Amino acid sequence: MTDRYAVFGNPVGHSKSPRIHALFAAQTGQDLSYEAILAEKDGFAAAVDAFRARHRAAARGANVTVPFKEEAFRLATRRTPLAEAAGAVNTLSFEHDGILGDNTDGAGLVRDLKHNLGCDPAGRRILLLGAGGAARGVILPLLLEGPAELLIANRTEETAARLALEFARLPGCAVGVKPDSIGFGDLAGRGFDLVINATSAGLSGAVLPLPTSVFGPRCIAYEMLYGRDTAFMNQARESGARVADGLGMLVEQAAEAFFVWRGVRPHTAPVLAVLKNAS
Ligand code: NDP
Repeated sequence: MTDRYAVFGNPVGHSKSPRIHALFAAQTGQDLSYEAILAEKDGFAAAVDAFRARHRAAARGANVTVPFKEEAFRLATRRTPLAEAAGAVNTLSFEHDGILGDNTDGAGLVRDLKHNLGCDPAGRRILLLGAGGAARGVILPLLLEGPAELLIANRTEETAARLALEFARLPGCAVGVKPDSIGFGDLAGRGFDLVINATSAGLSGAVLPLPTSVFGPRCIAYEMLYGRDTAFMNQARESGARVADGLGMLVEQAAEAFFVWRGVRPHTAPVLAVLKNAS
């Protein structure tokens, strides 16, 4: 019996996850299928139920993408500490007595930084731009790496301040640095080793009000969006920073999900190479 997985989203047609998981399965010899399922905006739970009813015991898990990660959090009957901290779930495991919710986005980012880009967050001064779902998902995994500093800047400053306070109070952050927030207007003269763009500004072509000083010497500028050149990437390049997009994070979060489900860690480099060649 082939084990069944799916990614639920709306829209979902563009998703690279079926391709990524098919490559992982072929590489590791795992017998599974993985499909993309478009759920109605108000029909996420019903779509998951239908998938499970259709495949019964063969339905083993799912990924969840925009806009259902918070709903997936509520659907899960148990959650990992990372999912609890993020307030969002991107990986569901269907178990005999419930649904386990996990969040692999942050682990995916950290693995991409450390293993693919040679950028260990430990001891680095990090500026995180944005305070939405993607930012929430990466804060705790970044803090656990032991950065020297983690500042959050967001267009709506109160959201960044609230997020920083929330994570500063987490028991897991009692050791090491506590996150703080900063307004875009207060960034002049400040320099960072790693600037992560977790805003969706790149989707609309908006330019972030960043002074060139933020891209310190040998800085890595990480754009979570992938598949296009954004204004943030151009700003960073012009300031001499090394630039990366979020394709590696996408592949690494998928590998984390694959590991959660199958207990096998696929090699990501060949899969990343295939996707890069295809784009
Ligand atoms: P959300 O909608 O939850 O959050 C959007 C964030 O962007 C908010 O902080 C918002 O600020 C900010 N923002 C939006 N427009 C602008 C603008 N014009 N100028 C400044 N700030 C702006 O989105 P997500 O957090 O889910 O996603 C953010 C990005 O991360 C997306 O581009 C997404 O594609 C990418 N992503 C990539 C992943 C990967 O695997 N590579 C995984 C997950 C996400 P405000 O609070 O003021 O509205």
